[in-house]
Formats: sequence, C-alpha cells, structure tokens
Amino acid sequence: MNTFEARLSAMNWDEERESIYAKTAADVERALQATNCGLDDFKALISPAAAPYLEQMAFKSKAMTQKRFGKVMQMYIPLYLSNACANACVYCGFSHGNDIQRITLSLEQVKQEIDVIKSMGFDHLLLVTGEHPAQCGFEYLKSVIRFVKPFFSQVSIEVQPMHEDQYRALVQEGLNTVYVYQETYHQHRYKTYHPSGKKSDFNYRLATPERLGAAGVHKIGLGCLLGLEDWRTDSFFTATHLSYLEKNFWRTRYSISFPRLRPHMGTFQPNFPVNDKELAQLIMAYRLFNADVDLSLSTRESMIFRDNMMQLGVTAMSAGSKTEPGGYAVYNHALEQFSVADGRSPEVVCDMIRQQGYEPVWKDWDDCLQ
Ligand code: SF4
Repeated sequence: MNTFEARLSAMNWDEERESIYAKTAADVERALQATNCGLDDFKALISPAAAPYLEQMAFKSKAMTQKRFGKVMQMYIPLYLSNACANACVYCGFSHGNDIQRITLSLEQVKQEIDVIKSMGFDHLLLVTGEHPAQCGFEYLKSVIRFVKPFFSQVSIEVQPMHEDQYRALVQEGLNTVYVYQETYHQHRYKTYHPSGKKSDFNYRLATPERLGAAGVHKIGLGCLLGLEDWRTDSFFTATHLSYLEKNFWRTRYSISFPRLRPHMGTFQPNFPVNDKELAQLIMAYRLFNADVDLSLSTRESMIFRDNMMQLGVTAMSAGSKTEPGGYAVYNHALEQFSVADGRSPEVVCDMIRQQGYEPVWKDWDDCLQ
C-alpha cells in the first residue's frame, strides 16, 4: 500500500494553493451541480470564488445532512485528564515551556468528574490529555478507559499518537474513536509551530490515522488547526487525507473537526485568521464533498455561530465543556487549554437544538440506528 506520506510528498503546497485561488464561478457552479464531488470540486467550494454561493451551498448541505443523518445532533463532552505535555507547540497553553501547574487526574478524581458529567446526561466521553508519555501515556490511558467504559456507551480520545499495537489494545478496552489533528500539512512550516518533542516529527503524526485504521479503530477524527497556515490549502490536504483513508480503510468511519485558534496564555496570534463566513463555507464544502463524514463543532465556537450552523452540515456538538483537568468537579483553578466561547450549559444547548426541530442524541449515530 502506498502511504499517505508518499502521496503527500508527490504534491506541492504552492501549486495546490494556486490552483485553489484560480478557481472560477464556473468551477463553483459545476461543483454545486455535481452528484459526487471530487477533490477538484472541493477546491472550488473552498475557494474565494465560492463566496457569492454560500446560500446555495447552505441549501444543499442542509438537505444532504438531513438525508443522511436525520434531524439529530450527537452530543459529546471532553474530559481533560492531564495538562502535562512534553511538546512545545507555540500556540498552546499546555506547551512544555509554560510555567503552569501540571495536573494529571487520579482514578478517584476521574470518578468525581464523570459523576458530574453523567448527571448532565452525556453518554459519549472524549478523553483529552497533553502529550507526555510518562505522565499520561499508554498505560495511564488504558487504565482510565477501562475505568470509565462501564459508565459510557462511547469513549473517544484526543491524546498523543501511539503505536498500532497500543491502539489495538485500547480498542479491546472499549475505545471507539481517536481524534488526531495534523495541525498543518505544510511540512516546511510545521517545525516552526512544533519545535521540539515527539510532535515535531511531522511524518510520525501524519501516519497515525493509518495506524489507527490498521488497528481497527471504529472512527478516526481528522482536522487542521485553522489559523496556522492558509486554511483553504490546509483543508484541501485534510480532504485529500480523508479520501486516501476512506479508500484504504473503508470499514472505518471518519469525522472532521474545525478547531480555530483561540486566545490562550502566550503571545501567539493566528497567521491566517479564519472569519465566520469562511468557516461556514468550509463546513458546508465538506458536506458537499462527503455525505457520510461526521462534522463536529466544539465550544471553541460562539453561541451564535453554533446556532446558525446547526442545520447546515454539522452532526456533532460538545456542550458545557471545561478545558482544564478537573474542571467539572475537582479543581477550578488550573489553566485552560483554550478559552471556551460557548459557555452555555448542556441543558440550554439542547433546548436550542430542539427549538430548531432537531433532537439531541447522546450516543453515536451508529448506535442510534440500532
Ligand atoms: S497542542 Fe497538545 S501537544 Fe501541543 S503543547 Fe498543547 S497539549 Fe501539548
């Protein structure tokens, strides 16, 4: 099997970028008419030429999403287990060099946290850690997944990349989904943002979804950190990655997330800020490109944006999120990884979802169909 690394190395960032920016209204109209959008259509839909077509995109995106997923919204909540991190990502509050209190929750503390989370109604738990093999590595995660699984029908992780056999072992413990974001597919610039630690190894991270597919993980979440590099080009490479994985691991399900850089401790500011209209365009372009992929919108985004996008392609939302370890019950003073923009309670978010004629669901889409 040709690896995605090989595929990527045969492509050129600048050429792809130019080709996106050269798209015309005729290309966008062709993409809007297409029954099955290809990667070239996706380029047109994320291009500046598509800006006057947002209404048509919204109409089609809404119809496709309702046809495939019905009028439901999957609800999930992150549980930050640890802010220990051996990496030095320049955009993150948990970066190794930041002088903050480091916390890794014990199982007793995890129990206190999940008691609160369960009382809010959640059945899908996303475990999040920094990337510190000694503090919150494989063995720690295995013990936490084993501990929480009896309480949740779905357990996902967003943690350091691991080896295939480790993923296999976590699947045995009940792991369902792994989110691993490449942050940027701009290989030359990647090192600028990830100067040290294991995460500075671009290709090891890039190959992680392939290890996940080989290990039999049910769902793989992809994404890039919007704001680091040109979002259109990075999103095109993310979509290319998605297509590659779908061809090679066709039993696996996929999800795309849209993390936009948010204020945090430190001075880093987005080089390529993405405004609300552009983010809406991107989400709808993904739906037109891929009818089956889950599209997830976290509380990084504002209440207004989330309410407006709810019917236009998104299939999963978090609510009531705390982005610091122990934030639900144990502590309330540790540093957040990023500021939450939508601070509404799950109850209020669910009311909003129902007011729009949708039903919040607490399990995975596959579970809902059973
Ligand atoms: S983004 Fe992740 S890996 Fe990078 S510093 Fe933050 S927690 Fe660590």
